[in-house]
Amino acid sequence: MKTAIYPGSFDPITLGHLNIIKRAARCFDKLIVCVMVNSQKNGLFTPEERVELIRKVVSQLPNVEVDASSVLLAEYARQRRARVIVKGLRAVSDFESEVQMAVVNRKLNPNVDTMFLPSNEKYTYLSSTVVKEMVRYGVELSDFIPREIIEDVKRKTVQKQRPEENGRDS
Ligand code: ADP
Repeated sequence: MKTAIYPGSFDPITLGHLNIIKRAARCFDKLIVCVMVNSQKNGLFTPEERVELIRKVVSQLPNVEVDASSVLLAEYARQRRARVIVKGLRAVSDFESEVQMAVVNRKLNPNVDTMFLPSNEKYTYLSSTVVKEMVRYGVELSDFIPREIIEDVKRKTVQKQRPEENGRDS
């Protein structure tokens, strides 16, 4: 069975991520989308919430599993017996750091290789950071994130803004 891992922050999942997931799922028997937990980074969503959002979006893709992990990616690949890591490349700017990570991962786990999929041209500008910026300004989100999660993202953004506003008022 050919298993691949698609790792990322997915805070939140975007249409660019989903496009990579659908294309990669066609190439492998099983694709594990893994939210990599980084304790140094505080996101909009908790890792558990990101997993739930991704699950909502990939529910129609039978060979896609969603997970979260705080271990090193090379180690996670070993645990899951995956030989391939999938990465999306938006622009040349992604290339340098992604190739560096691919080489490090292969050094740490010689059984694992990284495969790059070029971003669909519709989504080369898209990142989770762009989405978080857009939602704060009330921009229509259907060109950026899957329909199923639009309300969740709006709700969470409002919740996160409230403590700041309350803080200012008091
Ligand atoms: P970001 O926070 O930049 O959106 P992530 O860390 O969640 O990204 O990204 C996970 C993986 O998805 C990385 O391989 C990244 O290059 C890729 N990716 C992110 N956005 C896109 C996109 N719009 N199109 C294709 N690949 C993407």
